[in-house]
Parts: sequence; structure tokens; C-alpha cells
Amino acid sequence: MTINVTKAYLPPIAEYTAYLEGIWERSWLTNNGPLVQRLEADLSRYLDDTQVQFTSNGTIALQVAIKALDLNGEIITTPFSYVATTTAILWENCTPVFVDIEDRTFCLDATKIEAAITPRTSAILATHVYGYPCDVLAIEDIAHRHNLKVIYDGAHAFGVRVHGRSLLSYGDLSTCSFHATKLFHTVEGGAIVMNDKELARKIWLYKSFGHIGDEYFTIGVNGKNSEFHAAMGLCNLPRVPGFIEQRRALAAIYRQELAGLPLQFPEPTEESLEYNYAYFPVLFDSESRLLRVKEALAAQTVNTRRYFFPSLNQLPYHQGAPCPVSEDASRRALCLPFYQELTADQVRWVSQLVRNYHY
Ligand SMILES: *Cc1c(COP(=O)(O)O)cnc(C)c1O
Repeated sequence: MTINVTKAYLPPIAEYTAYLEGIWERSWLTNNGPLVQRLEADLSRYLDDTQVQFTSNGTIALQVAIKALDLNGEIITTPFSYVATTTAILWENCTPVFVDIEDRTFCLDATKIEAAITPRTSAILATHVYGYPCDVLAIEDIAHRHNLKVIYDGAHAFGVRVHGRSLLSYGDLSTCSFHATKLFHTVEGGAIVMNDKELARKIWLYKSFGHIGDEYFTIGVNGKNSEFHAAMGLCNLPRVPGFIEQRRALAAIYRQELAGLPLQFPEPTEESLEYNYAYFPVLFDSESRLLRVKEALAAQTVNTRRYFFPSLNQLPYHQGAPCPVSEDASRRALCLPFYQELTADQVRWVSQLVRNYHY
């Protein structure tokens, strides 16, 4: 049986069809319908009473966020993220300026940010890699002193808490992805999370063509989402704490079964962290060993993912300054299969395969 690197959770179908019956009765399929409103309200409560705008995906969330904060010029960002973090900056006609990551959490290294600030810098866009938090307090301090905006790509950070608060509540805003491969999903979807009501209103307009009825306020785009996607979110959201518990248990088995191999695991030192176990990444001691294990697992129909590869300062269509830590991490990082429905025996089997081919 094939084991994929992730598997989307699907709720009992009757739960979803109960929502569908309501959609059929109302014939209200999209455009800020009652299920979208309910999901936004439930997400807001789950994320510490933040303002939440549900979007069609996590990439448009980044693009709308950059637009809504009126960013221009240079945006300091991380080379160790999914490609959408960088392409959203380029798409909005800004210049990504890559600052290297630190090697415990693989997040943007806050101690290296200030050296990269120029008069053209307008913001910092950092990713909470694998759900491990950036140094949000240090970044807040730098942004405050240099009058910069802060966006967090929180696509991996749903359910994470730090310093007693939702990780998505930091910065001027955070974006999230609710894609089928993420811990919490709405099939396709995403969100922009912030504390400022005015900003939330602006973002609502930007994601809804910039007009209300016959009144036209601003340019906009279609970044909203539908009742069908909201229904999936309403089914899945109450299960998130359970998902995190199941994943915590599976991660512990992996750690136990892989002990003794020269593998490195991310090691956040932040004591207040309440982690979401979004991924199970391991770093091999060389790229050739990673490739050998990856291929051997694939031959046994166990799929893993190089995540993130390549380092984003080395994209063919946009080169940035060298980032040796990120380049090295992207050559050696591999995400192992990790999802709630994985059994303890499957985790042991995958670990045994890693062990067998780790030579
Ligand atoms: C998944 C992901 C995105 C993109 O989200 P989509 O909903 O797929 O558009 C952006 N950034 C990171 C870090 C991601 O993991």
C-alpha cells in the first residue's frame, strides 16, 4: 500500500452532506454566505479573537496582504519556504531580499535582518517553518525601530501558540493556507489573520473586487472563497486539537525509532511553544544519503518530500545573495510521511526502511 507524505483528512460524509443540504435550500453558493461567515467567526474565536478573512488559497492571501499594506521596494524574506512566499513578493512588483535562516528552527535569522535593511526596505516577510515560530519578539522590535511592516507566512502555523498567544496573531498580519495537504484544510483555502479591524475591512474589499454594490472604492481581485469550502472547514475545525494529539504521538514514535542515526531534527528552544506537529522533517548528514534513502523508500511506495528545495535564493528566474545555511538545509531536509491516519506500525516500518538504507 502506498504511503504518501501527507493525506488529507475527510470527515464522515454525512457531516459534510448535512451542510450541503443547507446550501441547496438557500441556493447561496458563494459571496460571503452564512457558512463563510460562520467559519470566519469560529476561526476568529480559535485564533484568540483576531480578525480573520477567509480567502481562496494561501498564495492569494500573501498577494492581497502585500497589496493591502501598501508595500513597495524591498521586502526582507526567507529563502527557506515554499516558492509562493517569494513569488507573491515578485508578483506584487516588490524585490525579495533574502536573509539567511538559523539552523535550529530553519526560520529567518532575526540577528541577520538589520544588516539587510536599506532605505528601500518596506517590510519583513518571514515563514514559521514546519510550524516552528520565528523569533517574533526580536522581529517586532526590529520592525518597530526601522518602521517596517511585518507579514508572517503562517501556512504551517495553524494551532501553534507561543508566549500564551496564537502564533498567527503576531505581526501586522499573518497569512495561512488551508490547502488539502495542511494540518487544517478546507480543500483549497487560506486566511489573513490580523488584529486591526480597519485593515481587515480593507482586505475584505481587496479580496472582493474592491466594490460594494454600485460603490467602487479600490482595485481588487477575486480572493474570496465558497460555501462548499467553508463547509469542509466547519467539519474539520473542531477536530484540530485531536489531530495535534494524534500527530504528537506519531512524532514520538518516529523519534524513538530513528534514534541513534546521524539525523538532525529541528530543535526550537522557545519554552512557551505549544507546537502543532505539522510536519515530520529530518536532516540527513549529506544530500547523497538523502537521495539514496528517498529513492529506496519510493521503491517501496513510501513517498517523501524534499521540503523545501531548492533554497529560494537559487530560483532559476530570480537569484538572491548566497544563503549558506538555507542552501545546506534545503539539500539535506526531507519530510517523512506524516498524517493522523498513519498507524504506529506504519511509522515503525517507514523508520525501519530509513534505517536499512541509511549507509
Ligand atoms: C502551502 C504553502 C503556501 C501556499 O498556500 P496555498 O494555499 O497552496 O496557495 C504558502 N507558503 C507556505 C509556507 C506553504 O506551505
